[in-house]
Amino acid sequence: MATKKFMIGVVPVGDTPVFVAKATAAHISGYLNLPTEILPALDTPSFAYDEKRLQYNAGIIIKTYEALEFGCEKVVALLDIDLFIPLFTHVFGEAKLGGKCALASIFRLKMERDGSCPAPSLVYERAAKVALHELGHLFKLRHCEDNRCLMHFSGDLEQLDRTPIYFCRYCNRFFKDALVDNSDSSFNS
Ligand SMILES: [Zn+2]
Ligand SMILES: [Zn+2]
Repeated sequence: MATKKFMIGVVPVGDTPVFVAKATAAHISGYLNLPTEILPALDTPSFAYDEKRLQYNAGIIIKTYEALEFGCEKVVALLDIDLFIPLFTHVFGEAKLGGKCALASIFRLKMERDGSCPAPSLVYERAAKVALHELGHLFKLRHCEDNRCLMHFSGDLEQLDRTPIYFCRYCNRFFKDALVDNSDSSFNS
């Protein structure tokens, strides 16, 4: 299968509603101006379930997905499970710098700290922010110190809600330059 240059694949995984994938794909094409494609859904990655933590190991999922052939240059997998990486209690998403496949999970985006449920539109917006942030890592963007930038690290929902859905001028420039080539290295949340 030929890999479509600059095509971003969006893959719903497990219980993730297809509509979340469609909304995220719309944000990717709208904000990053890149073509997107909704790919066939994948099953919940039970192979990455950690029985001690009752969560899913994001690193194992990425390693497995990066070995799959999606036919797109970059892929964002949208999950509805609790993700973790060692040393963190949880992560909203995960991607390798310069990697092929990013993860974003709506699991912690659809419940406020007081247990109430946010409006669906807010959940879609949060999912899109996490997906675009992780996609930034796939295009080699690192974390940005500017808290008015999408590449600023968000550890909780308050930070995520304060983060805008666009890159700062510097990151935007870097993103455009990074569209030119890619390779890979370390993990980034
Ligand atoms: Zn920035
Ligand atoms: Zn990050």
